[in-house]
Amino acid sequence: MRKQLLLALLALSALPAWAALNVFATVPEWGALAREIGGDKVTVFTATTALQDPHRIEARPSLLAQARRAQLVVATGADLEVGWLPLVIRDSGNANVQPGRPGYFEAARFVSLLDVPAVLDRTQGDVHAAGNPHIQLDPRNLLRVGEALALRLGELDPPNALAYQAAYQAFAGKFQAAIARWEKEAAPLRGLPVLAHHDSFVYLAHWLGFTVVGKLEPKPGIEPTSGQLSGLLARQQSAPARMVLRTAYQSDGPSLWIAGKTGIPALMLPFTVGGSPAAGDLFGLFDDTVQRMLKAAR
Ligand SMILES: [Zn+2]
Repeated sequence: MRKQLLLALLALSALPAWAALNVFATVPEWGALAREIGGDKVTVFTATTALQDPHRIEARPSLLAQARRAQLVVATGADLEVGWLPLVIRDSGNANVQPGRPGYFEAARFVSLLDVPAVLDRTQGDVHAAGNPHIQLDPRNLLRVGEALALRLGELDPPNALAYQAAYQAFAGKFQAAIARWEKEAAPLRGLPVLAHHDSFVYLAHWLGFTVVGKLEPKPGIEPTSGQLSGLLARQQSAPARMVLRTAYQSDGPSLWIAGKTGIPALMLPFTVGGSPAAGDLFGLFDDTVQRMLKAAR
C-alpha cells in the first residue's frame, strides 16, 4: 500500500504539465520568444495569429479562459493591445496577471520606442498615439526583450531560473550571429525608398537603413483613402518609391492599386512568426523578410 502511494507520488512529480508555467502571449513573436527561452518548462498560448490585426482583436471567452489559467501574460504594450487586452485580463479574474503584478510583462518597456509623439492624442483613431508599438522587426529589440523575459520567468519559477538564463544565452548567441548575417545580406536595401500600407515597418527600416517615404493609411489605423493614394501617386513623379509593403493581415487592394499605377512591386512581408510559410520561427521571420525585400529590390 505504502509502495503504491510512493509510486503514485513519483508519477505525479514526473508529469511535465505539473511544473510547466502557463504563458499567455498576445502576439506570435512573444509566443515564439517565450518558447525559445522557456523550452519544455513553459506551455505557451498565443492569443493571435499573423493573419490578425493585433490592434483589433475581439475579447472572446476562449481568450478569457486562457488568461485565467496563465501565470504570465506577455504583451507588447505601447497601446498595441489597448482595445482588447485590458478587458481580457480584467474579466479573467486572475489576480496574478493584472498590470503591475509580476505575472504581467510588457515588452515595449525594455526597448526605445520610435515615433513617440510629444503629446498623447488618441483622437481621430490614431492607434500609435503612444509611439510605434511594432517593435519586433528590429531583431536587436528581441534580444533586449528576451533578456528581461528570462529574468521574469526566473522570478515566477525560481527552481528553473538558471535554466531560463542558459536558454536565453544560447538563443542570444545564435541570434546575434544571425543578425550579423542579415545585416550583411540586406546591405543593398540601405537608402531604399518604400511605401507602406500601415506604419508596420519603422523598426525594420531603422535597423536596415531603408526609408519609409509614404504611408497608404492617412493616419495609423485609418483605412487608406483615395485622397491619400492619389497624393502618393503624385509624389511618385518627383520622389519615386521602389516598392510598397504590407503585412500578411492587411488587405492587398490598396498596395496592388499603387503597384498597378506605378509599376513598382507590391510586397507582402510576414511581419511576425507565421506570416509566411518560411517564417516558422524568429529566425525564419528575418530570413524571409530580408530575402523577400532583396528579391523585390532587384
Ligand atoms: Zn500599428
